[in-house]
Amino acid sequence: MSRKSLPAGVALVAGVAIFGVTWSHASVVSHSAAAASLNDLPLNSAILLGGTPIWTSPMTGVMLATVALLSLAILAVLSRVNKLRRQVSEQEGALQKASETTQAIRELSRSMLQVAAQRPYDVHFPVRGSEEVAELVDGFNAMLTEMQRRDRARKEAEARLQQMVLFDDLTGLPNRRLLIDRLTHSLAKGWRENRKVALLYIDLDGFKLVNDGLGHNVGDALLGQVAQRMKSRFRQSDTLARIGGDEFTLILENVQGPEDADTVGRDTLEVLKAPFDVDGHSIRMTASIGISMFPEHAQEGGQLLRQADCAMFAAKRNGKNRVVQFGDGLGTAARERLMLEGELRQAIENGEITLHYQPEFDLATNTIVRFEALARWAHPTLGPIPPLSFIPIAEESGLIVPLGAYVLERACMDAVKWQARAKRPIQVAVNVSSVQFARDSFLEEVEETLHRTGLKPSLLQLELTESATLTGVERAADLIRRLTGRGIGVAMDDFGTGYSCLSYLPRLFLDALKLDRTFVTELAVRQETRAFVQSVLSMAHNLHMKVIVEGIETREQLELMRALGTNEAQGYLLGRPTANPMEQLAWGADLARARDLEAVS
Ligand SMILES: [Mg+2]
Repeated sequence: MSRKSLPAGVALVAGVAIFGVTWSHASVVSHSAAAASLNDLPLNSAILLGGTPIWTSPMTGVMLATVALLSLAILAVLSRVNKLRRQVSEQEGALQKASETTQAIRELSRSMLQVAAQRPYDVHFPVRGSEEVAELVDGFNAMLTEMQRRDRARKEAEARLQQMVLFDDLTGLPNRRLLIDRLTHSLAKGWRENRKVALLYIDLDGFKLVNDGLGHNVGDALLGQVAQRMKSRFRQSDTLARIGGDEFTLILENVQGPEDADTVGRDTLEVLKAPFDVDGHSIRMTASIGISMFPEHAQEGGQLLRQADCAMFAAKRNGKNRVVQFGDGLGTAARERLMLEGELRQAIENGEITLHYQPEFDLATNTIVRFEALARWAHPTLGPIPPLSFIPIAEESGLIVPLGAYVLERACMDAVKWQARAKRPIQVAVNVSSVQFARDSFLEEVEETLHRTGLKPSLLQLELTESATLTGVERAADLIRRLTGRGIGVAMDDFGTGYSCLSYLPRLFLDALKLDRTFVTELAVRQETRAFVQSVLSMAHNLHMKVIVEGIETREQLELMRALGTNEAQGYLLGRPTANPMEQLAWGADLARARDLEAVS
């Protein structure tokens, strides 16, 4: 029995008890009504009725029974009412719960719509309502957590993609795409505000040597350091971008004129001056910088970029490590260069490059000891193109590698033919670009060529330039040692120009130094030159190197160099480059004959 139905049950029992007692007394009274006196009544009846004798007649018993019955009826009604009230209360509770559940579902539904529309995946909904609704909210929260995780991953992937698309992976600088975009904005702003914009095209000098000689890892690390060093110097508002291998550009907004851009260009050269320490290598790096101005030179981004590139190319041609402003005529030079680069590629493929040979004489025996191979390019329409024009293009474009391999192969083949006709061994000298020398496969390629052509290693002399040591004296010394170890001769060409450093010579184990022609012309007029040549000769001989002098054009020069102790000589006085060197050998090839040749020419 429930707690609420307890009073009704008690009332029912009490009613039944009153009715039973009353009924029993009424029976006693009815059966002995006439004879019995009041004193005969049971004591407990008097107590029940409060000591008042109220059942003095049969009617009294009837009344009592009626009252008892009514009491019972009332008790039954009360019990029923109580039960109904309890049922209503229970239904009210159920309705309240249903209402709360409906409310929770509505709120959840609204939240779902809001999440679908605005995607606030970082919200978390409180768990309430029925067990089923709580389960639903729990599931929804779990779904939000998962969607938040996926949303974060998507955003990160998008950011990475944007970084890849617009920024250079190696340096973190804007790439060409972003540069063009920013340049377009800068020029539009320049138009609106009537301001000038400068574009600097910065190209590192000789970077290819680092890449080929020390490896791409060192090259990449160097580019990173160069980028950081330049970036630290420029204003936040200036855009420094990397648009190619070793090519950077800088957009300068709000410049007063070309002088401002020029100052920034010079600052850039200055900031690059200190050596870079990469992986234990101390590397010196310079740059060639071209500048074009908006609106003076161009009003459109692409054109401005091309003009800055042209100016940069002019800076390279004028000796590198300098700043050049775009101006009239530079565009033509750049077009010519591009045209020549394309045609040189074709010329190498078609075998249009020929070799001429210039003799070198031993001053002790007055005989030819070798011929230097010199590449010649006879352009079908432009005529002969001087090596000074096409060799720099070949070096900058990388065409020097196939060109150098072609020259080496042809020279070795020709030298094999000479040996059959000459009375003594004749060497062939082949010029090697520092780009070729920097290649890891250089020694292997030389050996293969010798093997293929059948030329003895001792009949080949390679002429290196001083820039061969740019990728490290240790590496150069090691490679020279391996070449000379195989019997191949190695000479330092144009010695005394460019990167001259007497201190590294003892470490290189060269066979010969080829003194640059400028010393020959200066010898007669400058006393210091004579002292320098004497010291070079003395040092070279102490290191068991021969000294070859080039550019001998007069007898006086020849006799002076001979008197100073030069071992070998080359120059127009002794023999011009020729396609048929065997003719010179056939003439006897002595100095008297060479002088006769000069006399008749
Ligand atoms: Mg040479």
